[in-house]
Amino acid sequence: MRILIAEDDPVSSRRLETILEKWGYEVVSCINGMQAWEILQEEKAPKLAILDWMMPGMDGLELCRKIRGRTNGPYIYIMMLTSKDDKDDIVKGMDTGVDDYITKPFYSHELKVRLRAGRRIIDLQTELIEARDAFELKATHDALTGIWNRGAIFDILKLEIERSKRDKRDLGVLMIDIDHFKHINDNYGHCVGDVVICDIVKRLTIKIRPYDGIGRFGGEEFIVVLPGCNNHVVSGIAERLLTAISEMPVGTNEEMIPVSISIGACVPENVGNINFESIIKAADDALYRAKDDGRNCFRMTDVTDV
Ligand code: GH3
Ligand code: MG
Ligand code: MG
Ligand code: MG
Repeated sequence: MRILIAEDDPVSSRRLETILEKWGYEVVSCINGMQAWEILQEEKAPKLAILDWMMPGMDGLELCRKIRGRTNGPYIYIMMLTSKDDKDDIVKGMDTGVDDYITKPFYSHELKVRLRAGRRIIDLQTELIEARDAFELKATHDALTGIWNRGAIFDILKLEIERSKRDKRDLGVLMIDIDHFKHINDNYGHCVGDVVICDIVKRLTIKIRPYDGIGRFGGEEFIVVLPGCNNHVVSGIAERLLTAISEMPVGTNEEMIPVSISIGACVPENVGNINFESIIKAADDALYRAKDDGRNCFRMTDVTDV
């Protein structure tokens, strides 16, 4: 584990560094609060910090206040190391957000066990953050394909509708459905069907911009949200997606399976009037027209549909 030492006295700092390194810590040292603050802004900054109270410029207490005032970044476990041993000082330090306190000259065994306690807190914190992130990922992503799930892509679309209204920008939405997918399941089984879905999603994802949204609407149906795209651009993207899917069969262990998709595209003419339900319905209606017109094609929504 990496540990930050902020200490202006070189003798003290060197002694601490030697002990910590002997205990297996990777030490990052600096000589004042400002330097420590800069180090703590870095990516992969140490999560454990031993701060001297009295330092030139920004002292340990002020640094602690600054760290606790951050709204982003990981939790930093702060241990104050100082010659101040007055009870009022300890209270003041703890009140500012210091986690632990050790007075100079320190008893090395005490420092060792106190650091161990600090590591336990950091490990728990890390586990908690990982669990929260995993839960968040599960709650917003489709388990099979890894793209946004229905709820998340709906939220993205709602947000983009609001943004379009505010910025008076175009917004394109595609409703995509895999053609004759039931045949694929019936002929090769559901597992192969799943492989086909994943392969198609991968190809679609590569062909859109990083700031476009793609999500699973249902079974073999997907929604693509295209911020800032007018009729002309959306048509181009739809053509590109159709080609990306139909130009190459999906290779499975069994054989090469030809695939295609149909697309219903919707670009509301007047962004000021659009709402979520009507845009979804319009794209869905256009998709039905694409299916009726022979599949492997896209149809645009009539302006009057929205
Ligand atoms: P069309 O061209 O008109 O869209 O015909 P289709 O066969 O694709 O449409 P249909 O709605 O009849 O069939 C869709 C099938 O997709 C039915 C359903 O069992 C299958 N499906 C839905 N979700 C999944 C999935 O996650 N995995 C697999 N393997 N199949 C799925
Ligand atoms: Mg000092
Ligand atoms: Mg379908
Ligand atoms: Mg289908």
